[in-house]
Amino acid sequence: NARGWDLTAPEDLAEIDAARAPQREARFRAGPIVAGQGYDGDGLEILNPADPSDIVGHVVETPAELIEAALEAARPWDASPAERAAVLRRAAALYEENFGLFFALAAREAGKTLPDAVGELREAVDFLRYYASGIAGLERPARGTFACISPWNFPLAIFTGQLSAALAAGNAVIAKPAEQTPLIAAAAVRLLHEAGVPGTALQLLPGRGETVGAALTSDPRIGGVCFTGGTDTAQIINRSMAASLAPSAPLIAETGGLNAMIVDSTALPEQAVRDVLASAFQSAGQRCSALRCLYVQEDIAEDLLEMLEGAMECLRPGNPWDLSTDLGPVIDAEARATIEAHVAKAKDEGRLIHRLKVPATGLFTGPAVLRVSGIEALEREIFGPVLHVATFRAEELDAVIDRINATGYGLTFGLHTRIDDRVQAVVDRVAAGNIYVNRNQIGAVVGSQPFGGEGLSGTGPKAGGPEYLPHFTAPHSPETAA
Ligand code: NAP
Repeated sequence: NARGWDLTAPEDLAEIDAARAPQREARFRAGPIVAGQGYDGDGLEILNPADPSDIVGHVVETPAELIEAALEAARPWDASPAERAAVLRRAAALYEENFGLFFALAAREAGKTLPDAVGELREAVDFLRYYASGIAGLERPARGTFACISPWNFPLAIFTGQLSAALAAGNAVIAKPAEQTPLIAAAAVRLLHEAGVPGTALQLLPGRGETVGAALTSDPRIGGVCFTGGTDTAQIINRSMAASLAPSAPLIAETGGLNAMIVDSTALPEQAVRDVLASAFQSAGQRCSALRCLYVQEDIAEDLLEMLEGAMECLRPGNPWDLSTDLGPVIDAEARATIEAHVAKAKDEGRLIHRLKVPATGLFTGPAVLRVSGIEALEREIFGPVLHVATFRAEELDAVIDRINATGYGLTFGLHTRIDDRVQAVVDRVAAGNIYVNRNQIGAVVGSQPFGGEGLSGTGPKAGGPEYLPHFTAPHSPETAA
């Protein structure tokens, strides 16, 4: 896996600071990149979510004629698997060399703290190398042109993961990054081209989902769609593809979750609190894997919540550029308004247990703990630092698992217990793609912890695992091809 940094070592921090310093005031630009040619023009401002006075750059959204030009220009990557793998490995090395650029953009465009930015870059690099390795021995033809549509919450890792798998398999890629984070995407595409990916094999179309995304997912020249984002959006894309694309065109969708954790009375409280804190509030709760509903056994609930409130007060909210910050802003004003309305409603109903104060300037929202009767009270995913807490009695454990499964989502699940037999029994019954025992429930290491959900949380196959790459190839045998 990719090189890391020791963020407690002064020499590593000095190296990072020196590398990103030139990007502190820089103004970045992103625009369509079609057949290797970049397009510029009047752009929309991208502002730092932590500091509205910081203009990070401008984005030129893709006009209809360039969507058409990209679809016409797209050509599968006509190189041997070994050559493609070598180019993707070169790109991985370029990503690592440009860590200062990526850490600066992660902080200023996406509001990411340094530990999150480091994790994100490492994951992107891992994806490039992992799919480069996977393509050796996978003698199957490409599908054609893949539309890769990605979210803002992992603007480098997921963006890169999608396109590197599609490219490794020899497809052409048209990438549509999230409208909030086109600058990181454009920086990544420039490095991929520099590494040797042909301009007709990788094109970038920044713009809105409803226009650029919808045009791609309804065009019969698209041979498959790789999507990560909300479940509602995946359903819209699914309908659009069914109406316009070939029936064989796959939709690989990784979507949202209503993720739960069960903490029973045998859990080690200090460890459970540390892991709840990270699972619910790291990245300001803006992870698909984040903990949304904590079920804590009633015997220990009061003590655990008291410790959790104390631990929350130790979080340091602020501008993610500052190394001491461990809680950044949310992505945009719309996200903040949704979260604030949800917390305000709970407060009116007398269900607010605790809330942390955050800076008034910038798109900050205070991490909140809300009481609920059970997970069914969460009507949908609230994508931010909001933890819902319910209690259960020992004899209710099975019923709690039934309620968690009944949501229909199945992304992550966490369990804290010291009863060995219980671990397997619970794991066997919970329908979730990734289950975390006696640890936090966020994060997955490419190559050893394939990641992806079940039910409303995704179609599979899991990213970063051996099943992923074959889905980007056409399923016919060499004999048929001959
Ligand atoms: P989103 O609103 O669904 O957007 C995702 C992408 O889809 C964006 O690029 C968006 O463009 C595009 N899009 C929107 N409408 C579209 C349409 N009609 N046709 C085609 N594309 C369209 O999700 P988000 O807010 O960016 O990301 C947060 C969500 O992603 C959460 O639900 C989270 O759980 C999920 N997520 C899941 C995973 C996983 O691995 N399971 C990982 C990360 C995030 P715009 O930017 O213009 O809206």
